[in-house]
Amino acid sequence: MARQLKEVQGIIFKRQKYREADLLAKIMTKNNGIITLLAHGALKPKSKLGASLLNFSYGTYVIYFTGHGLSTLRTYKDVSQFDGLFSDLTKNAYASFILDLIDHAFIEYQNLGKYYNLANFALQKINAGTDPEMITQIVQMQLLQAYGVEPEMRHCVICGKKQGKFDYSIKSGGILCSQHFDTDPGRLHLKPKETAVLRTIFLLPFERLGDIKINTATKTATRKAIDRIYQETIDLNLKTKKFLDELKLNE
Ligand SMILES: [Zn+2]
Repeated sequence: MARQLKEVQGIIFKRQKYREADLLAKIMTKNNGIITLLAHGALKPKSKLGASLLNFSYGTYVIYFTGHGLSTLRTYKDVSQFDGLFSDLTKNAYASFILDLIDHAFIEYQNLGKYYNLANFALQKINAGTDPEMITQIVQMQLLQAYGVEPEMRHCVICGKKQGKFDYSIKSGGILCSQHFDTDPGRLHLKPKETAVLRTIFLLPFERLGDIKINTATKTATRKAIDRIYQETIDLNLKTKKFLDELKLNE
């Protein structure tokens, strides 16, 4: 594809110095996937580009679009920033992990579909003060499908039962009703209400989950369950996750 001048709408989420005074920044775009942008001279004091490439900036960027490898930032329009994410260490850590997780589910320039809206939803909520732990768990559950993991959460994997007490089984790839707990002794041994939370945040559209409130004990249990599902089915080992876990230990 020949390089073409294009306006893209998106969120900046990773940046690093490149050569003398250039900058490489990743942008998660609404319609063109995740793109690494080269910004010539962005680190020079007089450059106007630098400020538009701070982490968690969002808006319209005018780029020389290549469709593979680096694209080049030419200028930008209407760029704002999620200030709350930039200035608060905890919110910053959660938001960085969420964007990193989405980044790893796609190859560059691959359209993100509904997951761009998921990213935008999560950042807006965390920026506005919604519990970042809950928002992160929602993102993790909803993103499983983008990683090709399709757990059966609607009904028991064995018998199809939709109501009752359930537990989650990684081996079976979904939920088990209490009559079929014995088919997997290694099931997660969650309380029924903890499994119910996992089902809800997986099955409902994320737009409807923004104000979900869950007590701390349940949230800790679902956190561990989700971590195990990720470890045993995807195994990512992200630095942003490690940092977030260390931050929570010190709270
Ligand atoms: Zn069953």
